[in-house]
Amino acid sequence: MKKIALITLVSLFLSCNSSAQKKETKAKASFPVTKTEAEWKAELTEEQYYVLREAGTERPFSSPLNKNYKKGVYHCAACDTPLFKSEHKFDSGTGWPSFDRVIEGNVAFGTDTKIGYTRDEEHCATCGGHLGHVFNDGPKATTGKRHCINGDALKFVPAED
Ligand SMILES: [Zn+2]
Repeated sequence: MKKIALITLVSLFLSCNSSAQKKETKAKASFPVTKTEAEWKAELTEEQYYVLREAGTERPFSSPLNKNYKKGVYHCAACDTPLFKSEHKFDSGTGWPSFDRVIEGNVAFGTDTKIGYTRDEEHCATCGGHLGHVFNDGPKATTGKRHCINGDALKFVPAED
């Protein structure tokens, strides 16, 4: 409740300024899709909630998407934003779906120091859901990046052909 009061206060203050400024601040304050934890809990499976909302990590080799090489697009399991393309998926051998790049603009990054050293955490830019982490040991022939993503955070949408 405190947070809501603060946001209201901030937008009240900004409405005294230009509307362009108001828009910019609003976009930074929250993700385009925002729901309460209770709402997410009701919508997501237990596994999806654990990964997306609690930044959990699924067991390696547990996701059916790990060995999925069909043509299509991987969407956010929470808000349906397209995040990764099948042509950028590769078998990293780690047991998690891996990609050498993201769909530009749809994935946001942050620093996750939970395990003692700094890793780049990736989350959905639309709903803020945790996806996984990016490492620098990806395929050298392309980007050199390995986006190590939990299958539970993804929904595969096969290409129509
Ligand atoms: Zn999302």
